[in-house]
Formats: sequence, structure tokens, C-alpha cells
Amino acid sequence: MDSNRYDRQIALPNIKEEGQKTISSLRILVFGCGALGCSCAEFLTRAGVQFLRLVDRDVVEWSNLQRQHLFDESDAQVHKPKAKAAEQRLRQINHHVEIESLVLDVNAQNIESLIDGVDAIIDATDRLEERYLLNDVCVKHGIPWVYAAIRRTSAVWMPLTSPNGPCLRCVFPEKPEKETLNAGVWGPAVSTTGGMEVSQLLRYFIEGKPDSSTSVLTEMNLWNNTFVQIPVEKNPKCPCCVGKEFAFLNKKSF
Ligand SMILES: [Zn+2]
Repeated sequence: MDSNRYDRQIALPNIKEEGQKTISSLRILVFGCGALGCSCAEFLTRAGVQFLRLVDRDVVEWSNLQRQHLFDESDAQVHKPKAKAAEQRLRQINHHVEIESLVLDVNAQNIESLIDGVDAIIDATDRLEERYLLNDVCVKHGIPWVYAAIRRTSAVWMPLTSPNGPCLRCVFPEKPEKETLNAGVWGPAVSTTGGMEVSQLLRYFIEGKPDSSTSVLTEMNLWNNTFVQIPVEKNPKCPCCVGKEFAFLNKKSF
């Protein structure tokens, strides 16, 4: 019935039948089901990955509907857990994708069980502490991931695909003292950033796994229509990817 579902994707010279086979074998953890999580999970589901694990602690609020594409008013009315609401919607989009949804707080105690059996991780959290924890666990276990964040009308993203670095702490060695929450999020930045995260991740698996010692941090401002790319080198003194000190993972109180 749906045998032509991926025709337009397979027609791409970058993908072809081989690339589709690769996509359909991928098992991905989507870390957070807010705006970026919704966007990335939808792109991955429509592309036809094998398995998605969705993790989020929160419930759907009315203030989410402006930018969190998988939710609607019925979810906000009953404050449905985001991971469960996302799973339900994604199943309607593509029933071939195996989806697991977990409503929980990610911490140093449970993160290593959450990465079990996944090929890669999409960063869709909005908490800095969790990103550093994610960085530790990805370097420790050699799992590729894509970092991304949106603030107001700007977005940044960076594939971190080599366990040998660079890693997040090569770029941002220390967590800033203060996190700015509720700074505002421009809705159109969400699909653009989610699209870049998913595109970079799928390209990494389809084109092979280059042992790159550099990565690229991209910053885009959708309001000003500006786009900046900054090459990122491995920091030879990085405590994480060089020193193998997993400070956030070992801080068991977190
Ligand atoms: Zn590093």
C-alpha cells in the first residue's frame, strides 16, 4: 500500500536505495521532546528510521503550541506527557517506525541505560547541565551526536561525530554560571534547526564515518538572515575527550 513512501528520498543522488537501507537501520535517541525534539523526531520518522527512543519529563502546556509541532490543543488541555503525545502522533505519521517513549528526568544515574542499543543521539534538551552530561556519555561510549540550541531568533548546531573529539567541552569548556531560561523562541527557527540536525546526522551515516579532528559550529539568525560557520578544533587540554574525565557523569548527585 505504501511501497512508494520513500520514493522522493530515494530519488536523491545522495541517498538512493543504499542510503534508504542505511536510514531504515538507524536507532536514534531523541533527548528531549520540546520544540527541537518534535521537529527532529518528525523528520526522522518521515525519513523511515528503524527505531526512536523519546525521552522527556514534561507535559504539554498551552505555551508550547506556538513551536512544538507534534502537539495540539487536546494534548495541552489534559497536560499529556510530551513523550507520550509525541509517540502517538509519530505512530500516525509512520507506523513502520518502532517508537519507545519514556517520561523521566535524565540524570547521571540513568543516562547510560538510555543510550543502550542506539546508534546516535539528537540533542533536543534546553538544559545546559544535561548537554554536558550527554557530552560525557557520548565521548565515554563513542556515540555520535548533534548539538543544537535555539535562543530567540538565533540557532546554533554542531555535529560531534568523533569520540576522539572535538567534543562540546572543547568548544565550551565550562558551563556558564547562569542559564537564561524563557528568553523566547522564534517558531520558524525550530524546523530549520531540527532539519539541520537531522540532515547532518543522516549524512554522517550515509556517507561513512570520517575520522575528523575538526567539526563546524554553525550559527544562524533567522530574523537577520545571517549564517556564520566556525571551524572547531579539538582542544588538546580538553578534560573530557582528551583527559577522559567525565565530571558530569561521575557527579552522581546530579
Ligand atoms: Zn573535548
